Amino acid sequence: MTLQSEKWKKDFPILNQVVNDEPLVYLDNAATSQKPTAVLNALDTYYRTSNANVHRGVHTLAERATRQYEDARETVRGFINAKEVAEVLFTRGTTTSLNWLAQSLGEAVIQPGDEIVISYMEHHSNIIPWQQLAKRKQAKLNYIELTEDGHLDMESVRQKITDKTKIVSLTHVSNVLGVINPIKEIADLAHSKNALMVVDGAQAVPHMTVDVKALDADFYAFSGHKMLGPTGIGVLYGKREWLEKIEPVEFGGEMIDFVGLRESTWKELPWKFEAGTPNISGAIGLAEAINYLETIGMDAIMSHEQEIVSYLMPRLLEIEDLTIYGPKDTKDRAGVIAFNIEGIHPHDLATAMDMEGVAVRAGHHCTQPLMNYLSQTATARASFYLYNTLSDADKFVEALLATKEFFL
Ligand code: PLP
Repeated sequence: MTLQSEKWKKDFPILNQVVNDEPLVYLDNAATSQKPTAVLNALDTYYRTSNANVHRGVHTLAERATRQYEDARETVRGFINAKEVAEVLFTRGTTTSLNWLAQSLGEAVIQPGDEIVISYMEHHSNIIPWQQLAKRKQAKLNYIELTEDGHLDMESVRQKITDKTKIVSLTHVSNVLGVINPIKEIADLAHSKNALMVVDGAQAVPHMTVDVKALDADFYAFSGHKMLGPTGIGVLYGKREWLEKIEPVEFGGEMIDFVGLRESTWKELPWKFEAGTPNISGAIGLAEAINYLETIGMDAIMSHEQEIVSYLMPRLLEIEDLTIYGPKDTKDRAGVIAFNIEGIHPHDLATAMDMEGVAVRAGHHCTQPLMNYLSQTATARASFYLYNTLSDADKFVEALLATKEFFL
């Protein structure tokens, strides 16, 4: 696996550079991933050979662009094992997907006094849209507690999901704690109370096999840029029965069937939700990213990341004054490690590590309620992907020790 990652790394031209006189070690993959040559070429080829607006034109380029855009939807469908392309909506990313849902689904199913359940480990994108909905509808937003080591507390899951719950929205993989949540088990529980299961898959789809049918998720959101694709493209998967029932959030060109002076009607799924000219090149780039990931295999990617975390964890735990947030065992854990070293502000730590060529993130990682829960204001975070090698892991530990030495 390790040797393979050396090979995979060569597919990412940006990684072959020197930063602050050191070879770049990019460990900020939870924020965004780098793009392989295949994706860069797909974008370039599209603009050089096929650029046109989709769906409306009858000329050759318009038909070519439309076919590529709709083929990309089929590629996404296959990747997440959705039943049909009608269930795959292109959005700008996870944040847009979740905002659409909170508005559209929220409008359809939430009444005053109803409950929406999320958890303390959610990204702001899976908090604020529901918070706003709860305010708008006088509904209640309930938070699932976490266990000491950062898993969802299943006792709390059972307590918080009640007969009043209409929507449960949880992250599949935490962007801070690295935990992989038991979505199927929770979806079953939600369904037993007639609640809907929404999943924030921003940190899951890039790293592991996701099968929306097997998970029995009613809705599943993710972003292209975290899975080797371009920025500005993402996906909202929804079960047909629900997408049929709910209204679009955006209106205008592309999504209409008939427009009258007072009333209009919408196209069928999935186009009913996609108002305006879509991100055509983004969808094509995302499909190319999926082809790349599928050629390697999601199971191989997951085991590679788990191998890196298993290699790193004991070495990190040996470092005095270093705290890791989230589970220490590597089972049910993705390649995200958030940590702090007592006495060094995480921003100083990230800045010093950058001087060694190592790119890690510092801050609240868009999870302020989680930071509060952990009694922290910020942490440092290293996050790994297929192109990170064991030598990257070594460089990370070396830079960390050098930084500690420098500050303490
Ligand atoms: N949810 C999680 C768990 C994330 O990690 C992120 C991004 O960091 C998002 C949602 C938001 O994704 P985007 O900014 O691509 O919309």
